[in-house]
Amino acid sequence: MSETKDDRGRAVRKVEPFLEEPEAKPFWASLSEHKLTAQRCRACGKLFSYPPQGSCPLCLSPEYDWVQLSGKGKVYSFVTYCRAWHPSYEDKVPYNVSLVDLDEGPRLISNVIDCAPDQVKIGMPVEVVYEDNEGYTLPKFRPMK
Ligand SMILES: [Zn+2]
Repeated sequence: MSETKDDRGRAVRKVEPFLEEPEAKPFWASLSEHKLTAQRCRACGKLFSYPPQGSCPLCLSPEYDWVQLSGKGKVYSFVTYCRAWHPSYEDKVPYNVSLVDLDEGPRLISNVIDCAPDQVKIGMPVEVVYEDNEGYTLPKFRPMK
């Protein structure tokens, strides 16, 4: 667990993903190898939505496989944050939080990077990029060229 300081100099825990969720461990492991994956149900063949879970959200089967996705998708919606709601984000504003509809179907909450905040558009084609942090990798997206 790492820390940062708030505007009064107090130590504040950095916002980091929870990596110990059993169903999500393969997801995080694949991201560390720069592969975006999702769960595919063995019973009905559908891809699970995120976050990773223990059974199919459609037919409740607990049998699934992890499959690699293309990493391509389109922005379904987004918001731009101009105010840091946590000290961890003070050096990041303005930034967007985007809902990305992946070409294979699942929707992932992430950020579109490598473009100005006002350049993010609904329907914009994007592709995954991997942000390596200490101990984990996050999937982010950039505009397709
Ligand atoms: Zn299913």
